Amino acid sequence: MNVLIIEDETGLAKEMEVFLKKEGYLCDQAHTGKEASEKIYVNNYDFILLDLGLPDYDGLDLLKEVFKSTKNASVIILTARGTVDDKIKGLDMGADDYLAKPFSLLELQSRMQAIIRRKHGLQNNVISVKGFKIDIDNRMVSQSDQPVNLTKKEFDLLHYLVLHKNRVLTRLQLTEHIWGNLLEDDFDSNYIDVHIKNLRKKLSGFEPADWIETVRGLGYRANI
Ligand code: CA
Repeated sequence: MNVLIIEDETGLAKEMEVFLKKEGYLCDQAHTGKEASEKIYVNNYDFILLDLGLPDYDGLDLLKEVFKSTKNASVIILTARGTVDDKIKGLDMGADDYLAKPFSLLELQSRMQAIIRRKHGLQNNVISVKGFKIDIDNRMVSQSDQPVNLTKKEFDLLHYLVLHKNRVLTRLQLTEHIWGNLLEDDFDSNYIDVHIKNLRKKLSGFEPADWIETVRGLGYRANI
């Protein structure tokens, strides 16, 4: 999953990035509203963490832009203490949650996971699907206690496909959300095919087989 961190305090932005990367998220940073606005226009993010107090931009205006140009991003607004009005306005506008500074990174992560669960109708951080258990916290996959040894990217692929089950995800979408935002020119669809092939191979030792479908000319779908 890819995250845009919009925060003018570069130290805090970096801290969030280091922490979230360790938890398996891809991160991008914007330190000004202008920079954020450009990134939002070009890229698709799963999460946007938005500091409302930016030097060059009204945070709520930027939030409006976020909702105009991104379809699926979840937004957590970050506010300084004492800016209750902005927080309420932000939530009214459709932000998924807010955190008042200073906040703990563990709390940020647990809010993000709660949003993912809410959005995808999950009870907890273990997804049971097709006899497999996908443990999000520990980034492990198993069937009947037998582990499936996936690489980091294979896990991310499986997780993303399962979260968006029964929907076709294009190669470009998968690349963008799992490898980060690449320029179109750099995009090589073979890359994703190789990873899917390896993932399928590892899952093929278990029942049922072939539930990660290739949709010809489009992409891939977890058929659940
Ligand atoms: Ca700020």
